[in-house]
Amino acid sequence: MNTVMILNKLSHLRHGPGRVARALPALLLSALALCSLPAQAALNVLACEPEWAALAQELGGKLLTVSSATNALQDPHQIQAKPSLIARARSADLVLCTGAELEVGWLPVLLQQSGNARVQAGQPGNFAAADGVRKLDVPGQLDRAQGDVHAAGNPHIQTDPRNIAVVAQALALRLAQLDPAHATEYAQRQVDFNQRWQQAINRWTVQAAPLRGVAVVSQHKAFVYLYDWLGLKEVAVLEPKPGVEPTASHLQSVLATLKLTPARMVLYSAYQDARPSEWLSKNAGIPAVKLAFTVGGTDGAKDLFGLFDDMLDRMLAAGARR
Ligand SMILES: [Zn+2]
Repeated sequence: MNTVMILNKLSHLRHGPGRVARALPALLLSALALCSLPAQAALNVLACEPEWAALAQELGGKLLTVSSATNALQDPHQIQAKPSLIARARSADLVLCTGAELEVGWLPVLLQQSGNARVQAGQPGNFAAADGVRKLDVPGQLDRAQGDVHAAGNPHIQTDPRNIAVVAQALALRLAQLDPAHATEYAQRQVDFNQRWQQAINRWTVQAAPLRGVAVVSQHKAFVYLYDWLGLKEVAVLEPKPGVEPTASHLQSVLATLKLTPARMVLYSAYQDARPSEWLSKNAGIPAVKLAFTVGGTDGAKDLFGLFDDMLDRMLAAGARR
């Protein structure tokens, strides 16, 4: 019996002990010690963005091996599907992405090149977080000339924690579907997460009350869900069109807009070039605020809870209504 066979037996063990389970533990342990592999997780999850990797960790713990295709300092709209990433997609049981066309520039190619039938669109191993969430900024009519418009609505759903609660519920069900042997554990972990998460949402909502009605400028239309949740008002966007780098003339027109409609701060994401926001900060005399946007974007955003703690701290420090 080779190592692969032994590991296959081990995965059967994890899916419910039986006759084999009673016969093999000692052999398995010694085999594992020999090749010094960690015990196999039940599911191999490839997330497209760090926030979904973090959520999978919350819901699956040690039952999952989780990695993220992008980190917080990469633009999730566009990355290269490198061979190492294709290899990870090939061995994934679940590909867990935002959807709503956020990854339209790279995910279809990645999935196709992976040759992994289980994670193709429409399969249980393919989960799009935005599918179950009410989208904002859904265009009335689609005109690609308007820039990198997201036809399915704004995809940056993770900036409202209420959306994360919705996704968590659907994701826990999907994990249970893919790994029925641990269905009870996924359900329990989801209930536990949801309890902690709802408490945190209540705390954040109270804490952020001074931000209600505050006018802000965004570098990219990255925070519409955050504004919708907390009642901030976006009065200008530095990108002339979504995904198009700010031009000098557009920055001047934003500056002119702010003379009539002042804003309290300009917000940009950790992965973005800070210079357009810093230019506006200097010229309009308002603070430029870097927001994590996802887990890992700033030192404080170590997990999903830290993500919102840190984003709210930074916004409150920069410009709460007085
Ligand atoms: Zn975007």
